[in-house]
Amino acid sequence: MILEQLRADVLEANLEIVRRGLVLYTFGNVSGIDRKEGLVAIKPSGVPYESMRAEDIVLTDLDGKIADGALKPSSDLKTHLLLYKRFPAVGGVAHTHSTFATAWAQAGRAIPALGTTHADYFYGPVPVTRSLTDEEIAGDYVLNTGHAICERFEGIDPMAVPAVLVAGHAPFAWGKTPAEAAHNAVTLEFVAHIAALTMSINPETRGVSQALLDRHYCRKHGATATYGQK
Ligand SMILES: [Zn+2]
Repeated sequence: MILEQLRADVLEANLEIVRRGLVLYTFGNVSGIDRKEGLVAIKPSGVPYESMRAEDIVLTDLDGKIADGALKPSSDLKTHLLLYKRFPAVGGVAHTHSTFATAWAQAGRAIPALGTTHADYFYGPVPVTRSLTDEEIAGDYVLNTGHAICERFEGIDPMAVPAVLVAGHAPFAWGKTPAEAAHNAVTLEFVAHIAALTMSINPETRGVSQALLDRHYCRKHGATATYGQK
């Protein structure tokens, strides 16, 4: 099988978002990329997770041409492909309709950095895109979703804020690998849940200070990271 390890990793990341309760029925999809081969591995469209096998994971090139696999790729493929083209450090992308992150997306509100759990993963608010125009929706909708995400990330490092809320739709998360993309989708849902609770307890809540944001983000990321085992 071509790119057996990548397909196995993408299958595992897809199963992970199900295990963590982010997925109802077949909503949601995770992909991964082999930059050397220029090939993307993505969940097939509409296949139940319980019966999905590594060989069902579809391989396409960056233009969406099928390179290997008998099934149709996820209908969100074009969004994934654009993120790989525009964000060269990204190695995996995860899309879910997880409850709380989707609620923020539907509300059209960025998730503010309210505490250290957020700061450990997202170096600032998780942004929300603008709404798509009627023309964009009637046109190449899935690709235009990707364009709205990239437009929102002008001036934001996608590796420092590895997730976005698509207005009126749901979140996308990403990372260096498919596993990291799935992990970030899970932590995004957790952070979205806590933020919703926090704002309902006190709508006047102000975010973490820049100092606390720096302290927590840099503890886990970058040259001076101290988190975990060496
Ligand atoms: Zn969706």
